[in-house]
Amino acid sequence: MGEADLSQRLATVQGGIADAARSAGRPVTDITTVVVTKFQPVSLVRELLELGVRDFGESRHQEAQAKAAELSGSGITWHFVGQVQGKKARQVRAYSSVIHSVDRESLVDALGSPVEASAGDAVGVDCFVQVNLTDDPARGGVSIPNLAPLVERVLTTPGLTLLGLMAVAPLGADPRRSFALVSELGAQMRGIAPDARYLSMGMSQDYAAAIAEGATHLRIGTAITGNRPAPVNLKTS
Ligand SMILES: *Cc1c(COP(=O)(O)O)cnc(C)c1O
Repeated sequence: MGEADLSQRLATVQGGIADAARSAGRPVTDITTVVVTKFQPVSLVRELLELGVRDFGESRHQEAQAKAAELSGSGITWHFVGQVQGKKARQVRAYSSVIHSVDRESLVDALGSPVEASAGDAVGVDCFVQVNLTDDPARGGVSIPNLAPLVERVLTTPGLTLLGLMAVAPLGADPRRSFALVSELGAQMRGIAPDARYLSMGMSQDYAAAIAEGATHLRIGTAITGNRPAPVNLKTS
């Protein structure tokens, strides 16, 4: 895969985002594009850095941690978009600026600052509560009936700043309707969390629909990076 192809794909997606924002009557500056580089080599992250990308998304802790360490000092904002294991929560928090996948109370507790937090640990982490729009709990995300109590938990936990809601449109459903639902849930949530005005939704195949429904954070992988290489099995630490 040549660098020219990469810059072309990036430009095409940026153009598509600008078009969708214009159609929706929204300023494109309200939209953050997180380029999801899971399974991709560090060299590709570096190429994207040279092309001006600063927001990167990862979904597997060990891979993300290794990339963040190797690229430390490069000005990257790391977004964690995958499921977070409770026992890895504090490690994920250490390199992530934004965690998009907060989906259960035990994870909120694990991510929050302990009372005896050291000074270096006092910086909070921004997070989205992930909503599961399917009936399959394995998909990640909190079910809609459990959303409000989880939001309350985030709000009352020191060290976490709630940005808003994250969701993945279910396969086979009309993405625009799915995103409209997330947008409505977000509006309801602002009754208890007025500052949580962001929506993380929209991927390679459905970002235009997400923008039309108010997405502020797109998580785009393959449309920019090209196909993902087969996952490499990393040793568990
Ligand atoms: C992989 C992934 C993406 C990006 O998906 P593409 O279809 O490659 O754009 C977005 N969000 C999450 C949670 C992901 O795991």
